[in-house]
Parts: sequence; structure tokens; C-alpha cells
Amino acid sequence: PTPDNEDTNNENIRCLTTLGHFGFECLPTQLVNKSIQKGFSFNILCVGETGIGKSTLINTLFNTNLKESKSSHFYSKVGLKVKTYELQERNIPLKLTVVKTVGYGDQISKEASYQPVVDYLDAQFEAYLQEELKIKRSLVDYHDSRIHVCLYFISPTGHSLKSLDLMTMKNIDRRVNIIPLIAKADSLSKSDLQRFKSSIMSELVSHGIQIYQFPMEEDEDAAQVNPSINGLLPFAVVGSMEEVKVGKRMVRGRHYPWGVLQVENENHCDFVKLRDLLLCTSMEDLKDQTHTQHYECYRSSRLQNLGFNDMGPNNQLVSFQEMYEAKRQEFQGQCQREEEGLKQTFMQRVKEKELTFKDAEKELQDKFEHLKRIQQEETLRLEDERRKLEEQIIDFYKMKTASETSQAQVCASVKKD
Ligand code: GDP
Repeated sequence: PTPDNEDTNNENIRCLTTLGHFGFECLPTQLVNKSIQKGFSFNILCVGETGIGKSTLINTLFNTNLKESKSSHFYSKVGLKVKTYELQERNIPLKLTVVKTVGYGDQISKEASYQPVVDYLDAQFEAYLQEELKIKRSLVDYHDSRIHVCLYFISPTGHSLKSLDLMTMKNIDRRVNIIPLIAKADSLSKSDLQRFKSSIMSELVSHGIQIYQFPMEEDEDAAQVNPSINGLLPFAVVGSMEEVKVGKRMVRGRHYPWGVLQVENENHCDFVKLRDLLLCTSMEDLKDQTHTQHYECYRSSRLQNLGFNDMGPNNQLVSFQEMYEAKRQEFQGQCQREEEGLKQTFMQRVKEKELTFKDAEKELQDKFEHLKRIQQEETLRLEDERRKLEEQIIDFYKMKTASETSQAQVCASVKKD
């Protein structure tokens, strides 16, 4: 075709742009829709001393005013306050569970402060494990209460971590993703804050405490951001529900005689970084880590404690069916042994009772024989006495008759005279 013809042909071709997705490129959309329908859930645990700013930070993070009464320093033991909130951002529903310690750091014994936290974390794993082990399990609509992240609030002493901080983190670092935070960071100067951060990190390393590491992602931006983010840990945070006027804008901040601290200003504190990582970039990773690392660890040690083992006696892999069969037989044997033991004890008791009954019966019989003998002797004695009495009566009548006869003879002889 001549160049002229080509031009006319191209003019006749209609150019259409696709209006949607076709084929399996729609898979991500399906996943997104399914996830939105199902809704999202996220569980946060806040550990820190009373009055350190846990409630304020949560309110600032979720831009809510989840009102609560002030915690007291005089609780006799550490408790965990659990609250679930149904939040919505555009059309995305989020079931947020916030668990806060109450009375933490106010106990004399350090163990009394951290043990309830450890027990709580284990209890959530145990509940999930029990659901998993059910024959008819409903994990799809199960409200997963496992803790996805623990925000650990460090006092802004500017000095070092307290021994309670170290002990608690050491005991929970295999159970939950820990993100350490320097609370009320507005009370430290910039240089003090930097020194405090590096001293905390070196203490954590020297005590072998594992904290959550923000992952390197394939996403180019994240790959650039995350190494520096991990370098920012522990985050220095400030919480506030106050609206403060800066220029012509109202911002969230804290008003001081010397100026305004803006919570969402990255030059003032790390609040925005924490919020972005927690809610925008790392929420799914935190949930993944909880399931694949911490829960897996709990599950395997729990099943091992229950006597399950993937290896047979000759270090061969055994199937679940075989393992179940072996467990069942072992259990049956144990039941039989216990039944046998119970039977023996029962027979022993019956024999003992029989013996006591026999003794009592013999005693009663002896008593009866004794009484019977007494009664027989009494009867014989009475019989004897009766006989004697009857003889006396007979004698008496005989004497009476004789006396009457002699009296009559005397009277008759008197008359004759
Ligand atoms: P919780 O007991 O740990 O939940 O502590 P609250 O959130 O109830 O806070 C206790 C007090 O600390 C309140 O008076 C808050 O206004 C104050 N507070 C909270 N966060 C900060 C902060 O980042 N900086 C300063 N200076 N005070 C704060």
C-alpha cells in the first residue's frame, strides 16, 4: 500500500482502551474484595507503668477518644484491660483490640508484674490451639485474640532501662513482636534522646532481647525506608488529644510555655513513623510473624509437652494416624491400669468392711447369747421360787385343814362334856 493508503487505513482503525481487568490478573482484586468483606482485625498489647501515656497514645494513633477512667497506682496485682473497638476508615472495617496493663510497675515483686502478661499471651495462643485441634473447627469466623504487637512503653529517664523492663521483655520476646517506645519523649532534649536510644538498643542487644525488625520489602520505597527505620528504634513518641493552633492550622500537639510540640511533626517525634509502620506498611507482617513465628513456637512446644512427636522410635517420620493410634493405645492402657487399680482398692475396701461387719455381728451374737443365758437363769430361778411357794401354799392349806379338823374335834368333845 502506498503511504497515502496507509494513512487512510490507520484512520479507520478504532482505538479502544480497556475498561477493566480480564483473566487472572483479577486475582488480587478478588483477594481485596474478600478481605474487605471479611474485615480486618488487629490486636495490640500496651505494656508500661501506670500513667506513662498508654491510653493517650492509642487515642492519638486511632484518632479516637476511647474514654477511660484514670488508672490507679494501688492495684494489688497486675491486670489486663481488654477492649475491642469496631473502627472504619472509608469502607474498610477494622476490629481493633487494645489490651493494656493495669498496675504494672506498682508491684513489689518484679515477677508479679510480668507474669500476668506472659500468662495472657500464652492463654491467647492456647485458645487458638484448642480451636485448631477441634474436629469441627471454625477458624474462619473465629475471633483471633492472639496479640500481634506489643508496644512496650519505656520511661523517659534518659538513663537506662529498668530491670523490670529487661525482665519483662526477656520473658515475652519469644511470644510477641515487641516494638519499644520511649514514652513522653517531649521530656527529653534532642541530644539526650539520641543517647538514650542508643543506650537502650545496646542494653537490649547485650541481654539478648529480640525486638521486632521491620522487614525489607520488594517494594522499592520500603527497601529504602526500613533499614533506617530499624535504626530509629526505640521510637520516641508523644501522645496528645489536644488541638493546638499553629499558624492558621489546628494540629494535634502539646502546648508548653516555650512553644508547641506537634505530635505529627517528624522533627518533633517519631509518632508519624510509628503510625505509618503500624497501620500502613507492617500490620500484615506483624500478623504473619505472630502466626508463623511466635504461635508456631508455642504450638510445637505445647504439642511436644503433650507427648506428640513427629519422629517414631527409630527416628522415622510417623503419620498423624499412626501417632493418634499410638496415643490412643497408650491412653487405653493407662485407663485399664487405672481401672484395675480402682478395682483392687474397691475389693480391698469391701473386704475391710466385711471384716468390720463380721466383728460387729460376732459381738452382737455374743451379747445376745450372754443376755439369753442370764434370762434362762432368771427363768429357772423364778421357776424354783414359784415351786417353793406352791409347796408352802400346799403346806399351809394342809396345816389349815389339820387345824380346822382338830378344832372341830375339840369343840365336839367340849359339847359332849
Ligand atoms: P496510662 O495510665 O498509661 O494509660 O496513661 P494516660 O494515657 O492516662 O496518661 C497519663 C497522663 O500523662 C495524662 O495526664 C496525659 O495527658 C499525660 N501524657 C500522655 N502522653 C503524654 C506525652 O506524650 N507527654 C506528656 N508530657 N504527657 C503525656
